[in-house]
Amino acid sequence: MDADEALRRCGTDPQRGLDGAAAARRLAEHGPNALPEAPPRPAWLGLLRQFKSPLIYILFAAAVLAVALGHHGDAGVILAVVVVNALIGSFQEGRAERSMAALRRLSGLHVRVLRDGAERVVEARELVPGDLMLLAAGDAVAADARLVEQVQLQVAEAALTGESVPVSKSVTPLPEVTGLADRHDMVYSGTHVTGGRARAVVVATGVHTEVGRIAGLTERAEEPKTPLELRLEQFGRALVAAALGLFVLVVLLGLWRALPLPEVLMVAISQMVSMVPEGLPVAMTIALAVGMQRMAERGAIIRRLSAVETLGSTTVICSDKTGTLTRNEMTVVELWLPGDGTPREIAVGGIGYAPEGRLLEQGRPVDARDPALAGLLAAAVLCNDAELQPPAGDAAWTVLGDPTEGALLVLAAKAGADPATLRRDAPREAELPFDSDTKLMATRHRLGGAPRRVLLKGAPEALLRLAHGEDAATLAAARAQAEAMATRALRVLAFGSVDDDTLDAAAGFDALAGRVRLLGLAGQIDPPREEVRQAVAECRRAGIRPVMVTGDHKLTGLAIARALGIADDGDGRGACRAVDGPELERMGEAELREALPSIAVFARVQPAQKLRIVEALQARGEVVAMTGDGVNDAPALARADVGVAMGITGTEVAKSAAKIVVTDDNFATIVGAVQQGRVVYGNLKKVILYLLATSMAEVLVLLLALLGGFPLPLAAVQILWINIVTEGTVTVNLVMDPPDGDEMRRRPVSRDDRLLGTALLRRVALMTPMIAAVTFGWFAWRLSQGVPEDLVRTETFTVLAMCQWFNVLNCQSATASALGARLLRNRWLVGGLSLSVALQAAVLYLPPMNALFHTVPLPPASLLPLVALASLVLWAEEARKLRARGGRR
Ligand code: ATP
Repeated sequence: MDADEALRRCGTDPQRGLDGAAAARRLAEHGPNALPEAPPRPAWLGLLRQFKSPLIYILFAAAVLAVALGHHGDAGVILAVVVVNALIGSFQEGRAERSMAALRRLSGLHVRVLRDGAERVVEARELVPGDLMLLAAGDAVAADARLVEQVQLQVAEAALTGESVPVSKSVTPLPEVTGLADRHDMVYSGTHVTGGRARAVVVATGVHTEVGRIAGLTERAEEPKTPLELRLEQFGRALVAAALGLFVLVVLLGLWRALPLPEVLMVAISQMVSMVPEGLPVAMTIALAVGMQRMAERGAIIRRLSAVETLGSTTVICSDKTGTLTRNEMTVVELWLPGDGTPREIAVGGIGYAPEGRLLEQGRPVDARDPALAGLLAAAVLCNDAELQPPAGDAAWTVLGDPTEGALLVLAAKAGADPATLRRDAPREAELPFDSDTKLMATRHRLGGAPRRVLLKGAPEALLRLAHGEDAATLAAARAQAEAMATRALRVLAFGSVDDDTLDAAAGFDALAGRVRLLGLAGQIDPPREEVRQAVAECRRAGIRPVMVTGDHKLTGLAIARALGIADDGDGRGACRAVDGPELERMGEAELREALPSIAVFARVQPAQKLRIVEALQARGEVVAMTGDGVNDAPALARADVGVAMGITGTEVAKSAAKIVVTDDNFATIVGAVQQGRVVYGNLKKVILYLLATSMAEVLVLLLALLGGFPLPLAAVQILWINIVTEGTVTVNLVMDPPDGDEMRRRPVSRDDRLLGTALLRRVALMTPMIAAVTFGWFAWRLSQGVPEDLVRTETFTVLAMCQWFNVLNCQSATASALGARLLRNRWLVGGLSLSVALQAAVLYLPPMNALFHTVPLPPASLLPLVALASLVLWAEEARKLRARGGRR
């Protein structure tokens, strides 16, 4: 059916869209525009999943063995441990998953619609049948819709039809029976717009769309494991292998020492269990979730979990200029008109979008009555899609649409021309929209009774290439002027016109070659964002190189890069070169790779070249973050290690290709996210250090006792307790540590940084013997004094638990003292420690627990020397840190 019929049947006003009340009613009636999700996994399944681990199998085997040996109490403890462990695991995991799901919802699709006669941005979920969608290049189509109006609309439908090139659309009705791929009067959910624009009335949402019918229920998409997760798994497997070896060793030593076999077996099993880093996967999940949360609070929404850790290893950030490094608040400050042989220069006063300020030519006011100026202003206003909005109440003047274009409307108003009147008198009949490849835009108008005229604006080189060469001197002067303006950090636009011409989408701008008359140039300032200078400096301290990749002119880019510290002043030491698109084109791969370290600015870059820049940087071993906003940026965003899409100016296509979305478009936010990425990695390393040092220490104590011919220093259930309860209550909390503050003064984490690097192993080499010496020393000394074995074991058990408490404080920082304010920074850890102490007291002083854990109550006074002794573990590390700090200073 034709478009009008479709609108009528949907009850949609073609000028105003739906009204708000009707949209709300339809939303209630048809439900949200989303595919039904698989129901969340029930809690009991999450719990059950915890039992699917080798650790649990080992523990079950131990329980069976305990029963066989008649140690029913031990068997009960082991089973309780299994259950508690599973409960903690599933609780923590559930929490992390819920917060991640909530964050993921933030990165949902958005659509522009017409409602109550005004343009609104709504979430794709809120679309209802009858909504009038506004589509432009880069938009995702979020529901099935009938086209009502379109200008050169191109839609990529590969996801739906498999057709690899974008298809053109039209509003002409089609025969009743037409295959999906040929329905040119419709657009479908799941596709995206690559060019042109359109209005379309929504006819189906949710499951009723074509994709909805295919997809039915969406499966819970399990996110693939991140590289760090894989490395942690590998590390875990190595520890499990070591644990098995240890089991054999302990049993053999026990036999050699002729200790009672059942007891040796039980201890060997417990020891094996304590080597298994069961806290690690949970710690990893929580570290990523917390990282994601903290990044979201600072304006960076994570779309792929792996971005959290990759951000921490980023070595180069390639950033757009406009809006990311600059404020994207344009003001035209200079005009240049070709004149009749003698060029004219006009200064424009005033700042911001308020149309207040005068135009002065050599100190004398000029305005729109000047014919040459009027010609330029006509192009500036008519070849323009923005709207200038007067202030409401105390607010300032605002621009709807592209700020570059908004500034031109302000310019016209300052010169006394009314944009609305101009537009009414010269209606637009056709257009070639702006895109970052051609860097041009053209529109065709009927001007009063005069013939049709095509008006153009765009980057000076692009426009001057089309100019007719009547007066070569004027064109040369224009080129020189454009460069001079760019050197002063101005964003330069050129304007031109062609009389009595047609605009042909297929032929594009080339059809106008040699016929464009130059109307003049306009230079705009776009002040740098204040916070970026500092963020750039922070990047450099952190060993990350910022690079500008801009569509703007080389000299404009370089001037701003210098102002922000991205480019050096050209003293030859740092990166100071600017390379533009054509130069980049001429460079070979090897040459480019060679030149990369000296390039601070890539200018006049076409989106396809961004991909090449990313690949060249990666070939040099860099970990690249790249920003982007347009449709054509998607390949580069997908290829970069961290694709960063702009939240405000970004297209939906760019957002879905990116790994993170920066909600305020700000470079400083990206740098903040890098810091959080480093925090996550650092915190995981703390957990690894802690787990490794403590389990190695326990092993050492046991082996020393066996080799030295002593009785077993700990009962099997005591080993389990230390491992699961004492450690379990604190380990995970280490990943909640706030930033240390020096994250951005370290080098980026190398991609193949070993989890167990030398620095970490060196710390293990101090902690482990310290804990072992303290624990075993006490045990041996007390035995030598003839103290009853039960009491000695209880004391040894308690000293070991205390050592773990002190050691978790050690692990918080490699250099900073654990004492003082730092102690209270991580309230999760304080809570975990308090819980752990309370539980240990229960094992010592509650009679039923005494029976189960083979402990005897220790007189409170005797705890003092134990605390003092165990604290040596802390003092030793404090001494090392003191020396390290001294060394670093
Ligand atoms: P960045 O990629 O750093 O954000 P940018 O926003 O300046 O840079 P583009 O938007 O691709 O990059 O603009 C490139 C050039 O195209 C500008 O320098 C300007 O000369 C011209 N230009 C920008 N916007 C328009 C427009 N709306 N119409 C015509 N020409 C434009």
